[in-house]
Amino acid sequence: MVKAIVGVNWGDEGKGKITDTLAADSDVVVRFQGGSNAGHTIKNEYGKFSLHMLPSGVFYPDVTCVLGNGVALNIPKLIEEIKNITDQGVPAPHLLVSDRAQLVMPYHILLDGYEEERLGGRSFGSTKSGIAPCYSAKYAKIGFQANELFMPEQELRDRIENVCTIKNALIKNLYHKPELDPDDLYDTMMEYKEMIKPYIANTVKFLHEAIDAGKNILLEGQLGSMKDIDLGIYPMVTSSNTIAGGAAAGAGIPPYEIKDVLAISKAYSSAVGAGAFVSEIFGDEADELRARGGDGGEYGATTGRPRRVGWYDCVASRYGCKVQGATEVALTVLDPLGYLDEIPIVTAYDVDGEIFHDFPNTTYLYRARPVIEKLPGWKSDITGIRSWDELPEACRNYVDEIERRIECPITYVSNGPAREDIIVRKPKI
Ligand code: GDP
Ligand code: MG
Repeated sequence: MVKAIVGVNWGDEGKGKITDTLAADSDVVVRFQGGSNAGHTIKNEYGKFSLHMLPSGVFYPDVTCVLGNGVALNIPKLIEEIKNITDQGVPAPHLLVSDRAQLVMPYHILLDGYEEERLGGRSFGSTKSGIAPCYSAKYAKIGFQANELFMPEQELRDRIENVCTIKNALIKNLYHKPELDPDDLYDTMMEYKEMIKPYIANTVKFLHEAIDAGKNILLEGQLGSMKDIDLGIYPMVTSSNTIAGGAAAGAGIPPYEIKDVLAISKAYSSAVGAGAFVSEIFGDEADELRARGGDGGEYGATTGRPRRVGWYDCVASRYGCKVQGATEVALTVLDPLGYLDEIPIVTAYDVDGEIFHDFPNTTYLYRARPVIEKLPGWKSDITGIRSWDELPEACRNYVDEIERRIECPITYVSNGPAREDIIVRKPKI
């Protein structure tokens, strides 16, 4: 059975934690998009980890982890990450990397930085991991798939030469930076080849065989619906499809094999980078939620920068669930909200006096103001509670109300960062 675990919102909803928890009963965990700009935080018996390239199944020796063809593959970062976890006592992961994964090249990272610098105050807030230049090159058909590292020398040199001609025009004339040297690039790629050799595989074949054998497969998404290149808050999005539908292409499996889409939604909102964020709060109110949120505060797992925070947005989340095709929802990070007398939620948008219940496109989104309702708080610490019935009534009502408004069954509630901090709930709707 194939289950996708994907984000409803702006990312950082706790996908890593939920994937790590559910991977216990899985055979395969696949990343199907994005790259080392991800930050999936996991707390388990080995310690606390922030995974960037590796799938969140790496802590189980019996799980095969796959980086699918849809991934932006940063080879040095991947190798560094494997070393980091094994240095901390985690057994060497069983990892397969798609021979069709797109390589993040050193100049993609440089170009990402140059472009942010050029944009100055109008920047996207990129993590500068080279993701946008990598995917742009993929679609312009001047990228490199991992298998190309193994092509005959002259063919590869010719490909590199062509790319350098194009990129150097930009680097020289637009960014005024040092030009790329094709020979240096070839040498770097030969280093990449040696690093990735042990892991390269035909992952499409592997996954099709795993499906045929009835294995349990998790597809782990990066970021969330709001950052989807097509359906998110364009242009302040990531450069790939973060929706479960994208997993079929990014893992190379039939769409009808994805039987379950577990969408992860955080019990309040957070976002990194620029872009419309209707439910955002500011000042002391935001500082308090940021300090109490997540595990030790809402700060980026990749960049360490403070995350923007806001109240739960039912408009964005209902849309987020719809475009994910969510069959069930895990509502995470509920525990930090216990300090509030009343908990605001966003129930609609007001755009120039017109009330929207459906999430609008970006042109309207920039002018949207939140319509807020307040629910009673539970004023207590819910960490350590393991059953739905033991949660305070106001807390259950908060979950019920969100479920009703997002129109998708909430099957799990997460009340802490560790594996065991999970409550299985029978949905009401
Ligand atoms: P991801 O990118 O979706 O995997 O999420 P991140 O790991 O970037 O961000 C989620 C943050 O919330 C991390 O610091 C997690 O350790 C933490 N976290 C996850 N679930 C819970 C929860 O239920 N309660 C609390 N307090 N923290 C959580
Ligand atoms: Mg994250």
